[in-house]
Amino acid sequence: MVDRTQQPRALGVAVIGMGNVGSQVVRMLQVHGDELRQRVGAPLELRGVAVRNPHHDRGIAPELVTTDTESLIARPDIDLVVEVMGGIDPARELIAKALTAGKSVVTANKALLADYTSELAQLADRHRADLCFEAAVAGAIPVVRPLIQSLSGDRINRLVGIVNGTTNYLLSAMAERSDRYEDLLAAAQELGYAEADPTADVEGHDAAAKAAILASLAFHTRVTATQVYRQGMTRISAEDFAAAAAEDCTIKMLAVCERVDAGPGEPAIADGGKERLAVRVYPALIPRKHPLAAVDSAFNAVVVEADNAGRLMFYGQGAGGAPTASAVMGDLVMAARNKVHGGRAPGESVYAELPVAPIGDILTRHHLRLTVSDRAGALAAVAGEFARRGVSIASVRQQLDGSHAQLVVLTHHARESVLDQIAKSLAALDSVTSVTSVLRLEGTEE
Ligand code: NAP
Repeated sequence: MVDRTQQPRALGVAVIGMGNVGSQVVRMLQVHGDELRQRVGAPLELRGVAVRNPHHDRGIAPELVTTDTESLIARPDIDLVVEVMGGIDPARELIAKALTAGKSVVTANKALLADYTSELAQLADRHRADLCFEAAVAGAIPVVRPLIQSLSGDRINRLVGIVNGTTNYLLSAMAERSDRYEDLLAAAQELGYAEADPTADVEGHDAAAKAAILASLAFHTRVTATQVYRQGMTRISAEDFAAAAAEDCTIKMLAVCERVDAGPGEPAIADGGKERLAVRVYPALIPRKHPLAAVDSAFNAVVVEADNAGRLMFYGQGAGGAPTASAVMGDLVMAARNKVHGGRAPGESVYAELPVAPIGDILTRHHLRLTVSDRAGALAAVAGEFARRGVSIASVRQQLDGSHAQLVVLTHHARESVLDQIAKSLAALDSVTSVTSVLRLEGTEE
């Protein structure tokens, strides 16, 4: 606690990692030092930067740079640690050591937080330090703190987001230019919108980690990345976009987190059954009039639906050095203020223990594209498969293509496991040449 009769002592900051994000954090600390001092109530001093390669010129005093991260964190003149190196190990152990020493930690590391928030938050509690991670989800967009604080008196029912800039850039480009995925990816890599190895983005791992963090915060429970159903977007084609456009929809890579009813055969929630969560990441059709449909290029957005607040939308730059550093700096100022004035950042609120439902139990709408032979009874055979399993069809479009016809079937809500069986039995029909694509339709429930 600060003694108000004396000039407060400066707080020492260590930045672990000086890549895209870390270099911008260092810049902001240096450029905005005076304003930060006034906001915090004490000077924030950069006292060390840990990197892998010490020979690279970072544009800062060489004596600040070290490869000995452990020793830097352990120094008594370090009060706050910014972890922007990424990865699980050694970040997990380094953060644990900092928290155990009572140092507050600000991190942007979604991969780590998706699975280890619990362990790290407990350490922060035990040692009365702050663990802040606004930058871990959707870059500059303030969404973590609104979920933890602003909406903590409400009940959130659903959260749908575009939380990965790379896949949104690729899908937006595909919608505009109808180019092939491979060509768009190569162009995105050249422009720096996609990594050399794009797997984490295009296969949905990055979005799944963020979905796990968002669902945990929104529903006061613990969801890990492995519990998130995930499907990548590499098979989306220009033909899928054309078919989506015919339904007045576009295609987005969505993270959907929502409360769902009790499972089949379980008592209804009203009869004491336990509420469950559905947490999933996949490319899906959404109506063009949905607010997320207008989120283009590398931008991110999260729509939150709560009982009393209604629908809220958070929109902005979801990645990039400076936008992400902005969120890091917001956390750093909060954690530093707490060091000066006392108090702690809001900790975890995990009490609900809600199970995550298997994907097969979830009710979704499907959009199926089939190639069928152009002969009598083909359409009836297809419709029969839906009827046999009690799934109601919302619309069917048919387009002749030589001796074949393209059929597009849009269903009403039905259980995923049933829709999966239907897709399999359609593929086995004599009249069906191929089931070309099966996508979900989201965002139609108002
Ligand atoms: P980056 O450009 O790859 O930078 C990583 C930095 O960490 C580099 O300076 C590297 O040192 C250093 N580093 C790596 N391993 C280290 C080790 N064992 N010891 C010490 N330093 C080590 O990464 P980034 O894009 O800035 O991302 C950093 C974190 O922010 C990640 O968790 C990422 O998920 C998260 N994030 C990034 C963005 C974004 O737009 N980039 C957005 C949101 C969240 P060298 O420079 O010597 O190689």
